[in-house]
Amino acid sequence: MSESRVRIGLVYPELLGTYGDRGNAVVLTERCTRRGIAAELVEIAASEPLPDSLDLYLFGGGEDNPQSLAAERMRASAAALTRARAGGAVVFAVCAGFQLIGHQYQTGDGEMLEGLGLVDVTTVGGAPRLIGEVVVEPDPTLSLPTVTGFENHSGRTTLGPGVQPLGRVVHGGGNGDGSDGALGERLVGTYLHGPVLPRNAALADFLLGWIVGADALTPIDDHLTDALHAQRLASATATGWRARIQELRTNRG
Ligand code: GLN
Repeated sequence: MSESRVRIGLVYPELLGTYGDRGNAVVLTERCTRRGIAAELVEIAASEPLPDSLDLYLFGGGEDNPQSLAAERMRASAAALTRARAGGAVVFAVCAGFQLIGHQYQTGDGEMLEGLGLVDVTTVGGAPRLIGEVVVEPDPTLSLPTVTGFENHSGRTTLGPGVQPLGRVVHGGGNGDGSDGALGERLVGTYLHGPVLPRNAALADFLLGWIVGADALTPIDDHLTDALHAQRLASATATGWRARIQELRTNRG
């Protein structure tokens, strides 16, 4: 940590906030505060350069046009982010943000958005859009419970050789090839909105663990979050079964 207070950066919320990803920043800050760990939510407006002093950088999702503006601004602040990363800063990026921490995203209209290349992934817009509930079984090495979220994107993401996904898609689209997201050094990318961290407390703590250390993550009352997690998981599974039954009926008829 760069200072005693955990500084959680919400990057360009007016451009990368279409899908409620602000909730990720709120949850991370709140989970620190409830444990007596001083934390601050720092919003970085799109008109400002990214500071190099934050402990965690959150990049949310967005439609292609605001995403294009965000890409330009992120590239202009690439040096600050590199300094922050060298100092141990964590990156958590969702959907448009995930695409932009990769090398590039080619939109469905053919526009090429250059990303930061923090992780070796490339994305191409495709059809149909992948919309709906997603269930991901995280890579076993992470020891995380099943992750649930919501997705709405056209991008199909290809991981470079040796890049590990966040996990395997059990329901939904994710990267488009049966996997979702990517893992890097103190970095997680995913297609999951929801927002995803209020729905998956263990994933929020996994990220915080990189900053404050696992020992500082004392138990907190998670009964509401756990109930939400169970409810969303059941809902996604039910949606999956309904879709499958519909498919079987259609194929039969
Ligand atoms: N614009 C991107 C796409 O459609 C990302 C969408 C999002 O962030 N939900 O793939």
